[in-house]
Amino acid sequence: MSDSTSGSASLLPSYDAETIRRLDKAHVFHSWSAQAQIAPLPVTRAEGSFFWDGDGNRFLDFSSQLVNVNIGHQHPAVVAAIQEQAGRLATLAPGFGNDVRAEAARLIAEVAPGDLDKVFFTNGGAEANENAIRMARVHTGRHKVLSAYRSYHGATAGAIALTGDPRRWASEPGISGIVRYWGPYLYRSAFHASTEAEECERALAHLRDLVAVEGPQTIAAIILETVVGTNGILVPPEGYLAGVRALCDEFGIVMIADEVMAGFARCGEWFAVDRWGVVPDLITFAKGVNSGYVPLGGVVISERIAATFADRPFPGGLTYSGHPLACASAVASINVMREEKVVENARRLGDDVIGPALRALADKHPSVGEVRGLGVFWALELVRDRTTREPLVPFNASGADAAPMAAFAAACKAGGVWPFVHFNRTHVVPPCTTSDEDVLAGIAVLDAALDEADKHYT
Ligand code: PLP
Repeated sequence: MSDSTSGSASLLPSYDAETIRRLDKAHVFHSWSAQAQIAPLPVTRAEGSFFWDGDGNRFLDFSSQLVNVNIGHQHPAVVAAIQEQAGRLATLAPGFGNDVRAEAARLIAEVAPGDLDKVFFTNGGAEANENAIRMARVHTGRHKVLSAYRSYHGATAGAIALTGDPRRWASEPGISGIVRYWGPYLYRSAFHASTEAEECERALAHLRDLVAVEGPQTIAAIILETVVGTNGILVPPEGYLAGVRALCDEFGIVMIADEVMAGFARCGEWFAVDRWGVVPDLITFAKGVNSGYVPLGGVVISERIAATFADRPFPGGLTYSGHPLACASAVASINVMREEKVVENARRLGDDVIGPALRALADKHPSVGEVRGLGVFWALELVRDRTTREPLVPFNASGADAAPMAAFAAACKAGGVWPFVHFNRTHVVPPCTTSDEDVLAGIAVLDAALDEADKHYT
């Protein structure tokens, strides 16, 4: 029905919550879920660090929509840029050039470290990793890729094979040539280390041994999440990334840093590697580059690797590579990050607000086994016993096994906070633009919800 009073009929539906639930149930096939069991919250509106459901309930987004909306929801400058670009040129094949595609690449190269000056655009993180390993394989003429057990690199064929966590199991056997290693994680050390320095040294020695037995001449790349994301916000110990860099240099191996989750302000840096001053050969990104307003990801490429493809075709491509709406949103988003000092704010939030507040929760709640993180990228690891470190719910818990974490999540939601819960952890990952006041209000809700976890402490 047209709206004769305003003269601008909406072309889009505006359903009530019940209709959304009904149509969703009938027709939407959801990720990672048993379709009969999933009951998605109908979201009708979002702004800044909050979103609203169709029943009018407001939630503080402590998940950032899969650690994605780094500049918050509905930033007016980014929304306007997408609208403006849609009016100018809504799509363009990858073989052409245009202003926003060139400018997005220029800006990304400008904030990337070292000589990483060229950008291959994809539609998301998994495709970025697929293409990074393709580049590494062609560049080196080798086939193996070393990837960490506690990692997630995406759900396409190659990216799920790179993934070290249980999400890969159903897709095995994956692509050939993937060899897994243990990365550093002192709290549950694979190396029986008792200090960060020991963990670092042993993790690097393990990686070196693996390179030796696999044959360095067969290894194209080592891929790692600079700060491991969904598998626990594992911040690498001092010296680890530099050690991997040195190992790669020694054996001509390409170092790929997956910063799909950790990049673009999340860790209080443009790219998380900047914390440690390490320059990888390839960085993969997505999410925070434009807060996911339009799907976008990519690979930032060093001069050396780009040179491989100077006179030889790069054997990869995507219809939507460098999509104008995505690039327009990236241009606007990076400019917003600069103007509003989002990177600096994320660092300050981590150091002065989130870190201290979460450590105070650990003092109060026995079920908090470890607090770790940086920037606006934090995890509380929940346990049944601090001495044995028995997780509050088992590794890869589901159904009844996951009930204690489900009760914790339900208490957060009842308090108006949408948490990011994964196995025995809750991650504290609001938008990097969240005010101190809202962050602290959200942590106060976690505080109350942790009583649920404490009930299971033995
Ligand atoms: N790499 C990391 C570190 C991620 O966290 C993710 C997604 O969460 C991906 C890759 C995959 O990104 P996408 O879902 O955009 O394909």
